[in-house]
Amino acid sequence: MITCETLVYQPFQQAESGLHCDGVSVQSIVEKVGTPVYLYSARAIREGYSAIDDAFAAYPHAIHYALKANSTLAIARLLKALGSRADANSGGEVAVAMRAGFATGEIVFTGVGKTREELEFAVAQGVGTINAESAGELDRIGEVARALGREARVALRVNPDIDARSHPNISTGLKTNKFGVALQDARAIYAAHLGTKGLRLAGVHIHIGSQITTAEPLRRAADALVSLALELRDAGVPLEHVDLGGGLGIAYEGQQVLSAAEYAAAVIPELQRAGIPVVLEPGRAIVARSGALVSRVVDTKRYPDGRQFAVLDAGMTELMRPALYGSFHRIVPVVTRSSPEAAWDIVGPICESSDVFGRDRAMPGVEVDDLIAILDTGAYGAVMASNYNRRMLAPEVLIDGGAWRVIRRRQTLDDVLALES
Ligand SMILES: *Cc1c(COP(=O)(O)O)cnc(C)c1O
Repeated sequence: MITCETLVYQPFQQAESGLHCDGVSVQSIVEKVGTPVYLYSARAIREGYSAIDDAFAAYPHAIHYALKANSTLAIARLLKALGSRADANSGGEVAVAMRAGFATGEIVFTGVGKTREELEFAVAQGVGTINAESAGELDRIGEVARALGREARVALRVNPDIDARSHPNISTGLKTNKFGVALQDARAIYAAHLGTKGLRLAGVHIHIGSQITTAEPLRRAADALVSLALELRDAGVPLEHVDLGGGLGIAYEGQQVLSAAEYAAAVIPELQRAGIPVVLEPGRAIVARSGALVSRVVDTKRYPDGRQFAVLDAGMTELMRPALYGSFHRIVPVVTRSSPEAAWDIVGPICESSDVFGRDRAMPGVEVDDLIAILDTGAYGAVMASNYNRRMLAPEVLIDGGAWRVIRRRQTLDDVLALES
Protein backbone atom coordinates (compact mmCIF):
# COMPACT_ATOMS: atom_id res chain seq x y z
CA MET A 1 0.00 0.00 0.00
CA ILE A 2 1.48 3.29 -1.11
CA THR A 3 -1.21 5.61 0.13
CA CYS A 4 -1.53 6.14 3.84
CA GLU A 5 -4.53 7.56 5.64
CA THR A 6 -2.28 10.19 7.24
CA LEU A 7 -2.12 11.80 3.77
CA VAL A 8 -5.88 12.32 3.83
CA TYR A 9 -6.90 15.81 4.95
CA GLN A 10 -7.82 15.92 8.65
CA PRO A 11 -10.02 18.98 9.28
CA PHE A 12 -9.98 18.81 13.11
CA GLN A 13 -6.57 19.69 14.54
CA GLN A 14 -5.37 20.52 18.03
CA ALA A 15 -3.91 24.00 18.40
CA GLU A 16 -2.57 25.62 21.55
CA SER A 17 -5.93 27.24 22.26
CA GLY A 18 -7.84 24.01 21.67
CA LEU A 19 -9.42 22.08 18.83
CA HIS A 20 -9.81 23.90 15.51
CA CYS A 21 -11.71 23.00 12.37
CA ASP A 22 -10.13 24.44 9.22
CA GLY A 23 -8.51 27.13 11.36
CA VAL A 24 -11.70 28.11 13.22
CA SER A 25 -11.82 27.56 16.99
CA VAL A 26 -14.40 24.92 17.89
CA GLN A 27 -14.96 26.54 21.27
CA SER A 28 -15.79 29.88 19.64
CA ILE A 29 -18.54 28.25 17.58
CA VAL A 30 -19.94 26.31 20.53
CA GLU A 31 -20.13 29.50 22.62
CA LYS A 32 -22.64 30.85 20.08
CA VAL A 33 -24.53 27.69 19.07
CA GLY A 34 -24.45 25.55 22.22
CA THR A 35 -24.14 21.80 22.56
CA PRO A 36 -24.61 19.17 21.30
CA VAL A 37 -23.76 20.39 17.81
CA TYR A 38 -22.49 18.86 14.57
CA LEU A 39 -19.64 20.73 12.88
CA TYR A 40 -18.64 20.03 9.26
CA SER A 41 -15.62 21.11 7.25
CA ALA A 42 -16.51 22.09 3.69
CA ARG A 43 -12.88 21.60 2.69
CA ALA A 44 -12.88 17.98 3.88
CA ILE A 45 -16.03 17.31 1.83
CA ARG A 46 -14.46 18.85 -1.28
CA GLU A 47 -11.31 16.78 -0.76
CA GLY A 48 -13.32 13.62 -0.16
CA TYR A 49 -15.21 14.16 -3.40
CA SER A 50 -12.22 15.03 -5.55
CA ALA A 51 -10.15 12.09 -4.22
CA ILE A 52 -12.71 9.74 -5.80
CA ASP A 53 -13.29 11.85 -8.91
CA ASP A 54 -9.53 12.09 -9.54
CA ALA A 55 -8.97 8.39 -8.88
CA PHE A 56 -11.48 7.48 -11.61
CA ALA A 57 -10.33 10.19 -14.06
CA ALA A 58 -9.04 7.57 -16.50
CA TYR A 59 -12.44 5.86 -16.88
CA PRO A 60 -15.85 7.32 -17.87
CA HIS A 61 -17.65 7.68 -14.55
CA ALA A 62 -20.39 9.56 -12.74
CA ILE A 63 -20.34 10.07 -8.98
CA HIS A 64 -23.79 9.89 -7.42
CA TYR A 65 -23.25 11.01 -3.82
CA ALA A 66 -25.29 8.76 -1.51
CA LEU A 67 -27.52 11.28 0.24
CA LYS A 68 -28.39 8.91 3.05
CA ALA A 69 -24.91 9.52 4.54
CA ASN A 70 -25.77 13.20 5.09
CA SER A 71 -28.55 14.98 3.24
CA THR A 72 -28.68 18.34 5.01
CA LEU A 73 -29.55 20.80 2.22
CA ALA A 74 -26.34 22.80 2.47
CA ILE A 75 -24.25 19.62 2.26
CA ALA A 76 -26.26 18.36 -0.72
CA ARG A 77 -25.84 21.75 -2.43
CA LEU A 78 -22.10 21.69 -1.76
CA LEU A 79 -21.85 18.31 -3.48
CA LYS A 80 -24.00 19.53 -6.36
CA ALA A 81 -21.66 22.52 -6.81
CA LEU A 82 -18.71 20.12 -7.05
CA GLY A 83 -20.35 18.38 -10.01
CA SER A 84 -21.71 15.42 -8.09
CA ARG A 85 -24.96 13.70 -8.96
CA ALA A 86 -27.20 12.09 -6.34
CA ASP A 87 -28.14 8.65 -5.06
CA ALA A 88 -31.45 8.75 -3.18
CA ASN A 89 -32.72 5.94 -0.96
CA SER A 90 -36.30 7.08 -0.49
CA GLY A 91 -38.92 9.36 -2.01
CA GLY A 92 -37.95 11.89 0.65
CA GLU A 93 -34.32 11.86 -0.49
CA VAL A 94 -35.39 12.23 -4.13
CA ALA A 95 -37.38 15.32 -3.13
CA VAL A 96 -34.49 16.72 -1.07
CA ALA A 97 -32.11 16.15 -3.99
CA MET A 98 -34.46 18.14 -6.22
CA ARG A 99 -34.71 20.97 -3.67
CA ALA A 100 -30.91 21.00 -3.39
CA GLY A 101 -30.77 21.68 -7.12
CA PHE A 102 -30.03 18.28 -8.64
CA ALA A 103 -31.77 17.78 -11.99
CA THR A 104 -34.08 14.76 -11.78
CA GLY A 105 -32.05 13.08 -14.52
CA GLU A 106 -29.01 13.24 -12.21
CA ILE A 107 -30.71 11.19 -9.50
CA VAL A 108 -30.41 7.45 -9.05
CA PHE A 109 -33.22 6.05 -6.89
CA THR A 110 -32.29 2.95 -4.88
CA GLY A 111 -33.94 1.32 -1.88
CA VAL A 112 -35.06 -2.12 -0.87
CA GLY A 113 -38.76 -1.42 -0.41
CA LYS A 114 -40.08 1.34 -2.63
CA THR A 115 -43.77 2.07 -2.19
CA ARG A 116 -46.09 2.54 -5.16
CA GLU A 117 -46.34 6.25 -4.25
CA GLU A 118 -42.55 6.57 -4.30
CA LEU A 119 -42.36 4.83 -7.68
CA GLU A 120 -45.09 7.06 -9.14
CA PHE A 121 -43.29 10.14 -7.85
CA ALA A 122 -39.92 9.00 -9.23
CA VAL A 123 -41.28 8.04 -12.65
CA ALA A 124 -43.43 11.16 -12.97
CA GLN A 125 -40.46 13.36 -12.06
CA GLY A 126 -38.24 11.57 -14.57
CA VAL A 127 -35.61 10.29 -12.14
CA GLY A 128 -32.42 9.28 -13.99
CA THR A 129 -32.38 5.61 -13.04
CA ILE A 130 -34.45 3.50 -10.70
CA ASN A 131 -32.41 0.65 -9.27
CA ALA A 132 -34.95 -2.15 -9.00
CA GLU A 133 -34.61 -4.67 -6.19
CA SER A 134 -36.68 -7.55 -7.62
CA ALA A 135 -38.52 -8.85 -10.67
CA GLY A 136 -41.77 -7.80 -9.01
CA GLU A 137 -40.52 -4.26 -8.58
CA LEU A 138 -39.52 -4.12 -12.26
CA ASP A 139 -43.09 -5.13 -13.09
CA ARG A 140 -44.51 -2.42 -10.83
CA ILE A 141 -42.19 0.22 -12.32
CA GLY A 142 -43.38 -0.85 -15.78
CA GLU A 143 -47.04 -0.56 -14.75
CA VAL A 144 -46.50 2.87 -13.21
CA ALA A 145 -44.59 4.10 -16.27
CA ARG A 146 -47.23 2.87 -18.72
CA ALA A 147 -50.01 4.46 -16.65
CA LEU A 148 -48.12 7.76 -16.78
CA GLY A 149 -47.25 7.38 -20.46
CA ARG A 150 -43.56 7.35 -19.58
CA GLU A 151 -40.52 5.17 -20.06
CA ALA A 152 -38.53 4.53 -16.87
CA ARG A 153 -34.76 3.98 -17.05
CA VAL A 154 -34.02 1.05 -14.77
CA ALA A 155 -31.13 -1.06 -13.50
CA LEU A 156 -31.57 -4.33 -11.62
CA ARG A 157 -29.68 -4.69 -8.35
CA VAL A 158 -27.88 -8.01 -8.22
CA ASN A 159 -26.61 -9.67 -5.07
CA PRO A 160 -23.31 -11.40 -5.91
CA ASP A 161 -22.92 -13.26 -2.58
CA ILE A 162 -19.61 -11.53 -1.81
CA ASP A 163 -18.50 -10.91 1.76
CA ALA A 164 -17.61 -7.21 2.07
CA ARG A 165 -15.65 -8.08 5.28
CA SER A 166 -17.25 -5.14 6.98
CA HIS A 167 -19.57 -5.17 10.00
CA PRO A 168 -22.41 -7.73 9.51
CA ASN A 169 -25.04 -4.99 9.95
CA ILE A 170 -23.62 -2.98 7.02
CA SER A 171 -22.83 -5.85 4.66
CA THR A 172 -25.42 -6.13 1.93
CA GLY A 173 -23.97 -8.44 -0.73
CA LEU A 174 -24.42 -11.83 0.92
CA LYS A 175 -27.19 -14.21 -0.07
CA THR A 176 -28.50 -14.00 3.50
CA ASN A 177 -29.06 -10.23 3.01
CA LYS A 178 -32.36 -8.82 1.77
CA PHE A 179 -30.87 -6.75 -1.06
CA GLY A 180 -31.26 -7.28 -4.80
CA VAL A 181 -31.81 -10.49 -6.80
CA ALA A 182 -29.52 -13.52 -6.87
CA LEU A 183 -26.82 -13.18 -9.52
CA GLN A 184 -27.85 -16.44 -11.20
CA ASP A 185 -31.44 -15.18 -11.61
CA ALA A 186 -30.48 -11.85 -13.16
CA ARG A 187 -30.14 -12.97 -16.80
CA ALA A 188 -33.59 -14.54 -16.87
CA ILE A 189 -35.14 -11.44 -15.30
CA TYR A 190 -33.53 -9.14 -17.88
CA ALA A 191 -34.61 -11.50 -20.69
CA ALA A 192 -38.18 -11.54 -19.37
CA HIS A 193 -38.34 -7.73 -19.24
CA LEU A 194 -36.52 -6.92 -22.46
CA GLY A 195 -38.95 -5.09 -24.71
CA THR A 196 -41.46 -4.47 -21.88
CA LYS A 197 -43.26 -1.24 -22.67
CA GLY A 198 -42.45 1.48 -20.14
CA LEU A 199 -39.07 0.00 -19.15
CA ARG A 200 -35.66 0.88 -20.50
CA LEU A 201 -33.13 -1.65 -19.18
CA ALA A 202 -30.25 0.79 -19.01
CA GLY A 203 -27.96 -0.58 -16.32
CA VAL A 204 -26.90 -3.22 -13.83
CA HIS A 205 -26.42 -2.36 -10.15
CA ILE A 206 -24.44 -3.86 -7.30
CA HIS A 207 -23.73 -2.57 -3.76
CA ILE A 208 -22.08 -5.06 -1.42
CA GLY A 209 -21.92 -3.02 1.77
CA SER A 210 -20.44 -0.09 3.61
CA GLN A 211 -17.18 0.74 5.40
CA ILE A 212 -15.22 -1.62 3.13
CA THR A 213 -11.50 -1.23 3.83
CA THR A 214 -9.88 -3.84 1.56
CA ALA A 215 -9.77 -3.95 -2.24
CA GLU A 216 -10.56 -7.59 -2.92
CA PRO A 217 -14.33 -7.61 -2.15
CA LEU A 218 -14.79 -4.52 -4.33
CA ARG A 219 -12.70 -5.99 -7.16
CA ARG A 220 -14.73 -9.20 -7.02
CA ALA A 221 -17.96 -7.18 -7.07
CA ALA A 222 -16.73 -5.28 -10.14
CA ASP A 223 -15.75 -8.57 -11.77
CA ALA A 224 -19.22 -10.05 -11.13
CA LEU A 225 -20.92 -6.86 -12.34
CA VAL A 226 -18.91 -6.62 -15.56
CA SER A 227 -19.19 -10.33 -16.33
CA LEU A 228 -22.96 -10.07 -16.06
CA ALA A 229 -23.00 -6.88 -18.14
CA LEU A 230 -21.05 -8.62 -20.92
CA GLU A 231 -23.49 -11.53 -20.92
CA LEU A 232 -26.47 -9.17 -20.97
CA ARG A 233 -25.01 -7.16 -23.83
CA ASP A 234 -24.50 -10.37 -25.80
CA ALA A 235 -28.14 -11.21 -25.08
CA GLY A 236 -29.19 -7.90 -26.63
CA VAL A 237 -29.74 -5.74 -23.53
CA PRO A 238 -28.67 -2.21 -24.54
CA LEU A 239 -26.78 -1.34 -21.34
CA GLU A 240 -25.68 2.27 -20.90
CA HIS A 241 -23.96 1.98 -17.53
CA VAL A 242 -22.86 -0.35 -14.76
CA ASP A 243 -23.41 0.83 -11.18
CA LEU A 244 -20.81 -0.29 -8.65
CA GLY A 245 -22.62 1.20 -5.64
CA GLY A 246 -20.75 2.79 -2.75
CA GLY A 247 -19.04 1.30 0.26
CA LEU A 248 -15.52 2.74 0.36
CA GLY A 249 -14.55 2.98 4.03
CA ILE A 250 -12.52 5.44 6.09
CA ALA A 251 -9.89 5.03 8.82
CA TYR A 252 -11.99 5.51 11.96
CA GLU A 253 -9.15 4.20 14.12
CA GLY A 254 -6.38 5.93 12.18
CA GLN A 255 -5.25 2.62 10.66
CA GLN A 256 -4.29 2.24 7.00
CA VAL A 257 -7.32 1.53 4.84
CA LEU A 258 -8.06 1.29 1.15
CA SER A 259 -7.63 4.70 -0.48
CA ALA A 260 -9.75 6.03 -3.31
CA ALA A 261 -6.77 5.57 -5.65
CA GLU A 262 -6.32 1.93 -4.59
CA TYR A 263 -10.06 1.32 -4.98
CA ALA A 264 -9.97 2.71 -8.52
CA ALA A 265 -6.81 0.74 -9.35
CA ALA A 266 -8.56 -2.46 -8.22
CA VAL A 267 -11.80 -2.01 -10.15
CA ILE A 268 -10.87 -0.09 -13.33
CA PRO A 269 -9.17 -3.12 -15.00
CA GLU A 270 -12.42 -5.05 -14.45
CA LEU A 271 -14.53 -2.19 -15.82
CA GLN A 272 -12.32 -1.93 -18.90
CA ARG A 273 -13.35 -5.46 -19.93
CA ALA A 274 -16.75 -4.04 -20.91
CA GLY A 275 -15.90 -0.37 -21.43
CA ILE A 276 -19.36 0.69 -20.24
CA PRO A 277 -19.45 3.95 -18.17
CA VAL A 278 -19.58 3.36 -14.44
CA VAL A 279 -21.84 4.94 -11.82
CA LEU A 280 -20.36 5.22 -8.32
CA GLU A 281 -22.47 5.85 -5.20
CA PRO A 282 -20.04 6.85 -2.43
CA GLY A 283 -21.46 8.34 0.74
CA ARG A 284 -19.26 7.78 3.78
CA ALA A 285 -15.93 8.22 1.95
CA ILE A 286 -16.96 11.75 0.92
CA VAL A 287 -18.45 13.15 4.13
CA ALA A 288 -17.47 11.04 7.17
CA ARG A 289 -14.16 12.76 7.93
CA SER A 290 -15.69 16.22 7.58
CA GLY A 291 -17.77 16.05 10.75
CA ALA A 292 -17.44 16.18 14.51
CA LEU A 293 -20.16 15.96 17.13
CA VAL A 294 -19.26 18.39 19.90
CA SER A 295 -20.78 17.80 23.29
CA ARG A 296 -20.47 19.02 26.87
CA VAL A 297 -19.71 16.84 29.88
CA VAL A 298 -22.70 16.99 32.22
CA ASP A 299 -21.51 14.57 34.90
CA THR A 300 -18.55 12.44 35.91
CA LYS A 301 -18.44 9.49 38.29
CA ARG A 302 -16.08 6.86 39.54
CA TYR A 303 -16.96 3.36 40.75
CA PRO A 304 -15.06 1.61 43.56
CA ASP A 305 -13.34 -0.67 41.01
CA GLY A 306 -11.83 2.42 39.42
CA ARG A 307 -14.04 2.65 36.32
CA GLN A 308 -14.68 6.30 35.45
CA PHE A 309 -17.55 7.67 33.41
CA ALA A 310 -17.95 10.97 31.63
CA VAL A 311 -21.63 11.56 30.82
CA LEU A 312 -22.19 13.83 27.82
CA ASP A 313 -25.12 15.95 26.71
CA ALA A 314 -25.05 13.94 23.44
CA GLY A 315 -26.12 10.33 23.24
CA MET A 316 -27.34 7.66 20.85
CA THR A 317 -30.12 10.08 19.91
CA GLU A 318 -27.50 12.34 18.28
CA LEU A 319 -25.06 9.64 17.08
CA MET A 320 -26.45 6.14 16.84
CA ARG A 321 -23.56 4.28 15.19
CA PRO A 322 -21.78 3.10 18.36
CA ALA A 323 -25.05 1.75 19.83
CA LEU A 324 -26.18 0.27 16.50
CA TYR A 325 -22.95 -1.34 15.27
CA GLY A 326 -20.50 -1.00 18.17
CA SER A 327 -18.61 1.31 15.85
CA PHE A 328 -15.46 3.14 16.91
CA HIS A 329 -15.06 6.93 16.83
CA ARG A 330 -12.04 8.87 18.06
CA ILE A 331 -13.02 11.04 21.04
CA VAL A 332 -10.91 14.08 21.91
CA PRO A 333 -11.13 16.96 24.36
CA VAL A 334 -11.76 20.36 22.78
CA VAL A 335 -9.36 21.96 25.26
CA THR A 336 -6.77 19.50 26.56
CA ARG A 337 -6.10 19.61 30.29
CA SER A 338 -2.56 19.15 31.50
CA SER A 339 -3.52 16.44 34.00
CA PRO A 340 -2.20 12.90 33.32
CA GLU A 341 -4.21 10.60 31.08
CA ALA A 342 -6.54 8.02 32.57
CA ALA A 343 -9.10 5.58 31.16
CA TRP A 344 -12.62 6.95 30.78
CA ASP A 345 -15.89 5.50 29.56
CA ILE A 346 -17.53 8.21 27.48
CA VAL A 347 -21.29 7.73 27.61
CA GLY A 348 -24.55 9.41 26.68
CA PRO A 349 -27.45 10.36 28.95
CA ILE A 350 -30.04 7.98 27.49
CA CYS A 351 -31.56 5.18 29.55
CA GLU A 352 -30.09 2.41 27.36
CA SER A 353 -26.97 0.43 28.27
CA SER A 354 -25.83 0.61 24.64
CA ASP A 355 -25.68 4.42 24.89
CA VAL A 356 -21.87 4.39 25.08
CA PHE A 357 -19.51 6.25 22.72
CA GLY A 358 -16.30 4.61 23.89
CA ARG A 359 -14.91 2.53 26.72
CA ASP A 360 -11.52 2.81 28.39
CA ARG A 361 -10.48 5.83 26.36
CA ALA A 362 -7.28 7.50 27.45
CA MET A 363 -8.20 11.10 28.28
CA PRO A 364 -6.53 13.77 30.36
CA GLY A 365 -8.70 14.61 33.39
CA VAL A 366 -12.32 15.18 32.40
CA GLU A 367 -14.45 17.64 34.34
CA VAL A 368 -18.07 18.75 34.21
CA ASP A 369 -18.62 21.45 31.55
CA ASP A 370 -15.62 20.31 29.48
CA LEU A 371 -16.22 20.09 25.74
CA ILE A 372 -15.61 16.77 23.99
CA ALA A 373 -15.51 16.14 20.23
CA ILE A 374 -16.45 12.83 18.63
CA LEU A 375 -14.66 12.70 15.28
CA ASP A 376 -15.46 11.32 11.82
CA THR A 377 -19.18 11.77 12.33
CA GLY A 378 -20.01 13.53 9.04
CA ALA A 379 -21.64 10.36 7.66
CA TYR A 380 -24.53 8.44 9.25
CA GLY A 381 -24.50 10.85 12.20
CA ALA A 382 -27.07 13.65 12.13
CA VAL A 383 -29.18 11.77 9.55
CA MET A 384 -29.79 8.91 12.00
CA ALA A 385 -30.71 11.15 14.95
CA SER A 386 -34.01 10.72 16.75
CA ASN A 387 -36.28 12.46 19.23
CA TYR A 388 -36.16 9.55 21.70
CA ASN A 389 -36.50 10.84 25.27
CA ARG A 390 -38.04 13.97 23.69
CA ARG A 391 -34.58 15.17 22.86
CA MET A 392 -34.38 17.90 20.24
CA LEU A 393 -32.33 17.44 17.04
CA ALA A 394 -28.93 19.10 17.33
CA PRO A 395 -27.98 22.01 15.08
CA GLU A 396 -25.46 21.62 12.26
CA VAL A 397 -22.73 24.10 11.35
CA LEU A 398 -20.72 24.29 8.13
CA ILE A 399 -17.21 25.75 8.30
CA ASP A 400 -15.94 27.08 5.00
CA GLY A 401 -12.97 29.28 4.20
CA GLY A 402 -12.46 30.53 7.76
CA ALA A 403 -16.15 31.40 8.24
CA TRP A 404 -19.00 29.33 9.62
CA ARG A 405 -22.77 29.30 9.49
CA VAL A 406 -25.63 27.30 10.97
CA ILE A 407 -27.03 25.09 8.20
CA ARG A 408 -29.71 23.55 10.43
CA ARG A 409 -30.90 25.28 13.57
CA ARG A 410 -31.55 23.44 16.79
CA GLN A 411 -34.99 21.87 16.85
CA THR A 412 -37.43 23.25 19.43
CA LEU A 413 -40.18 21.53 21.39
CA ASP A 414 -42.67 23.60 19.39
CA ASP A 415 -41.25 22.15 16.14
CA VAL A 416 -41.87 18.66 17.48
CA LEU A 417 -45.26 19.28 19.06
CA ALA A 418 -46.54 21.02 15.93
CA LEU A 419 -47.33 17.52 14.60
CA GLU A 420 -49.38 16.52 17.61
CA SER A 421 -52.90 17.34 18.75
C1 LIG B 1 -25.83 3.18 1.55
C2 LIG B 1 -25.68 3.02 0.10
C3 LIG B 1 -24.63 3.66 -0.56
C4 LIG B 1 -23.58 4.47 0.15
O1 LIG B 1 -22.77 3.65 0.93
P1 LIG B 1 -21.43 4.25 1.59
O2 LIG B 1 -20.90 3.10 2.35
O3 LIG B 1 -21.84 5.38 2.45
O4 LIG B 1 -20.53 4.66 0.48
C5 LIG B 1 -24.55 3.53 -1.93
N1 LIG B 1 -25.47 2.80 -2.62
C6 LIG B 1 -26.49 2.16 -2.00
C7 LIG B 1 -27.45 1.38 -2.80
C8 LIG B 1 -26.64 2.26 -0.63
O5 LIG B 1 -27.63 1.62 -0.02
